[in-house]
Amino acid sequence: MPEVNGAHIHGPPYPLKRNGSCLCCGTPVYRVIEVWQDGPLEGTPRRVGKQLDVGTQVTFQMSDGSEADVSFCIDCAPAVRPAHYRTIWEACLDREALGLRLAGRSANERTAAMARGLKLFPVARVRRRRESEEPGMLMVDRRG
Ligand SMILES: [Zn+2]
Repeated sequence: MPEVNGAHIHGPPYPLKRNGSCLCCGTPVYRVIEVWQDGPLEGTPRRVGKQLDVGTQVTFQMSDGSEADVSFCIDCAPAVRPAHYRTIWEACLDREALGLRLAGRSANERTAAMARGLKLFPVARVRRRRESEEPGMLMVDRRG
């Protein structure tokens, strides 16, 4: 959670993106079911469940017309600005690259995935949303 009058400043640099956590401050925003037991992600969420009350997703429209959802906490999400978009996407790609490596994907597969990702960039923020009480249902977040 960002500290009031503390060290955290919304925006880059971001910590290594953690599964189910706010990209900006690293606060868990989903219930953690399992954590990584070793490796570079040791102690960080490996499998997550339901979104927590502090969590939200920001949906970005990408340069190819697709959409990408990125998890933030409700304190950091309102602070996302267009100036942060590229760094946010690069943080997502860094985490994707690490995930592919940990999954044992070949160097060629990883290179191809990164080349696809690097052609894209977020162009606009579409909406924020939260999971509703019903599993699988999403609702628009009106909290700012
Ligand atoms: Zn945050």
